Amino acid sequence: MVRTQQRKPIIHLVSMPMILLVSSQLKSAIGMIQPACYTRTGKQAVRSFTVNNLSRTLQSSRGSIGSRWMSASSSAAEVEDATTSIKHKSSIPAFRIFYNDVYEVHLPKGHRFPMDKYQRVRKQVQKVVKELPKEEQEKVDCDFHVSPLATVDELVTTHSYEYVQKVLSGDLTEQELRNVGFPWNEENVKRSFSSVGGTVAAAKFVCEAAEQRKDNPSSIPPWAAHVAGGTHHAFHDRGEGFCVFSDIAVAANVALQSFPNIERILILDLDVHQGNGNAVLFQGRPEVVTFSMQCVANYFSEKQQSDLDVELPPDCTDQTYLMTLSHWLKRIKRESGPYDLVFFQAGVDILAEDRLGRMSISQKGVETRNKLVFDFAMDLNVPLVITMGGGYPRTDDWAPILQAHSNVYLQARQYLADTGASRKQ
Ligand SMILES: [Zn+2]
Repeated sequence: MVRTQQRKPIIHLVSMPMILLVSSQLKSAIGMIQPACYTRTGKQAVRSFTVNNLSRTLQSSRGSIGSRWMSASSSAAEVEDATTSIKHKSSIPAFRIFYNDVYEVHLPKGHRFPMDKYQRVRKQVQKVVKELPKEEQEKVDCDFHVSPLATVDELVTTHSYEYVQKVLSGDLTEQELRNVGFPWNEENVKRSFSSVGGTVAAAKFVCEAAEQRKDNPSSIPPWAAHVAGGTHHAFHDRGEGFCVFSDIAVAANVALQSFPNIERILILDLDVHQGNGNAVLFQGRPEVVTFSMQCVANYFSEKQQSDLDVELPPDCTDQTYLMTLSHWLKRIKRESGPYDLVFFQAGVDILAEDRLGRMSISQKGVETRNKLVFDFAMDLNVPLVITMGGGYPRTDDWAPILQAHSNVYLQARQYLADTGASRKQ
C-alpha cells in the first residue's frame, strides 16, 4: 500500500441531510490541543527505568503483592504463548476470544457496578458457540482464552510509571479511588491488569495473523475480541468511571511499537459515554485516530476532544442513531484512511433498557450498529479487535444487557462465517 503523509482525518462539516436530523448536537472536533503523553524517542529510556524500579519496589517493600502479581503473570504465560503461535487454519476466518472473569472481584454489598456480567456473557457466548452444529463451527476458527495480565512494559506505553506503581501497591488516595469507583484489593488489581492484557493479547493475535496474511491477501482479515475491556475513561496518570487503565490505548501503543505492519489505527467508540481517556491520550498522535459517538446529556466528567466527536440527543432512537453512524463511517472511510487496525468499543449502554445510558436504542438497533461496524472493518480489509464497554442492567432485569453484549460476539463470529462461506462460492 502506498502511503503519503500520515495525518489526522480531515473531515469538514458541510451541509448534509444527516446533520439536519441531529443539527446542533452534531459536532466535528478535529485538532490537537495537547502535546503527546510520550514520544517514541524518549520511550525506551522511560521503559527501562520504570520496569527496573518497579521490580525493585515489588521485591522490597511490596514483596507480597509483587510475588502474587508475578505468579499470576506466569500462569498467564500459556495464553501469551498461544497468542504468539498462530495455529488457526488459514483457509477459514480466525476469531479469538479472550475473557477475564476468572478473577474473583469483591465489591461492597449494593455496589452499582455489574461485575457478574462478564462471566454471564462469556458463558452465554461460549455455550451458543459450543452448541452450534459441527459444520457451522467449522466455518470459523473460534477459540476462547483467559486474558493474560498486562505487563508493566505494556502499561507504561500509555500510563505513567508512578500511577501503575500506585495501582499495584495500593497507594491510590481516597479521592483517586472514588474517581475510579472501585475499592482497592489484590483481586481488583489483577482484574485491572487482565482487562488490559486481554485487549493487548487480542491485538497481538490479529497483528501477527495479519503479518502472515501478507502471503494470502485475499483471505479474510483476522478478528479477535475481549469479553471485557473498553475501559475508555482512564488517563495517563489517573482513572475514572470504573476504568483503572485504558486497555484499547495500551493495546494500540503496543501494536504500533511491536508490529512494523501497523502504522495507523482507528478507535471506533460507540459506548453511550465519550471515550474521554482515549481522546486525551491520543491528542497530537496522528497515528491513532479517535472517533467517539455519544449522548450529549451523558458526559461522565469534563468533555474532551476526540479527533471526531459526534453527539446525539438523549432518548435518541434507532433511525437517527443508525443514519448518523452510517454517514460518519462512510466519511471516515472516504476521507481519513488508510488504517491497518481497527478497535471497536462496543458498549451497549445505548440500549433503551440501560440503567445509565439515557438513549433509546432497541436491541435490533444495536445489532444493526454492530453490522455497520463489521461491514466497515471488512470493507477496509484490516484486522478488528472488539472490546466490551459499558452496559448497566436494571436491578430486576439483566436479560436485555446480557443479550446485547453477547450478541456483539456471536454476531461477529456469524459475520465471519457468512463472509467466509460467500467467498468460497
Ligand atoms: Zn458507557
